[in-house]
Amino acid sequence: MITTRRRACALIGATATIGLPNLPFAQARLSYDLQPKPAGPGIWMIEGSTDYFSMDNGGAIVNCVLLQGDSGLIVIDTGPSRRFGEALAGVARTLDLRGVSAVVNTHHHPDHFFGNQVFATQPIHALGDTIRLAQDEGDGFADNMYRLLGDWMRGTEVVPPRNVLDGGEVTIDGRAFTVLPLSGHTAADMALLDQRSGLLIAGDLVFHDRAPTTPSADLAQWSAALDTLEATNAAAILPGHGPLDQAGASIAQTRAYLDWLNTTLRQSARDGLDMIEVMQLPLPERFAAMGAQPDEYQRSVSHLFPDIELAVLPRAN
Ligand SMILES: [Zn+2]
Repeated sequence: MITTRRRACALIGATATIGLPNLPFAQARLSYDLQPKPAGPGIWMIEGSTDYFSMDNGGAIVNCVLLQGDSGLIVIDTGPSRRFGEALAGVARTLDLRGVSAVVNTHHHPDHFFGNQVFATQPIHALGDTIRLAQDEGDGFADNMYRLLGDWMRGTEVVPPRNVLDGGEVTIDGRAFTVLPLSGHTAADMALLDQRSGLLIAGDLVFHDRAPTTPSADLAQWSAALDTLEATNAAAILPGHGPLDQAGASIAQTRAYLDWLNTTLRQSARDGLDMIEVMQLPLPERFAAMGAQPDEYQRSVSHLFPDIELAVLPRAN
């Protein structure tokens, strides 16, 4: 399958270079312009688009974090592609000539770890279950990402994280974190509290002004995880998607959306609506205004509604 993808991309590349022998069209056009934004002392973020994956954004929809360590920068999440990982490594070298010293993946979704191959000589940390999920589901995600992003993905190989992080107090390249092993957005979601700054790096357990994604979600577990994050009383919250939150609103916003989604889908099942009718329901204004709407809501209906229907409706037998 990987060979087929490589061939397809090689063909796309060959077509694109016609007439531009010295400057392949794809290379000229498909480049990520990553700008590090300060997110605390010795901390920078690469802020992703709040849209869904598209050929326009090259899948740069995720927040990545760079934190100063003793021997270089610690990178949290590596983006959707090899090309993105290379751009991220370039940003790191502008901040610290020694570049990246360690990587952490918050969870196994492809926009968070498909840049890993660029950092393959460094330790790449994740929860044990995240490592297993990345190994099991990585190739399936890759097929989908090549379909969505085409030549942006050229040369991208799935490199799962390999260094297991457990919960608790952990030091990575001289920097102390509290690692919170949680779940709900996926079966294994890591949040990290940076002890030096008090910044909570929440991964995709928290979305900010961007609709949460639910393809691997368990809404009850997610709600419990938000309780844990709230109890950290973090100084600021860096969500997986959306802007840095210094007012502490993003956890409540994520909870309000997921609660509304759950209630709406359950009520719709009880009312006998079919999936198409549920997808066409009007969104409350505060949720309609989030990035990636109404598409993300409609994807959530397709992921979640069949199981909710089964749970809510009386069984035929
Ligand atoms: Zn995710």
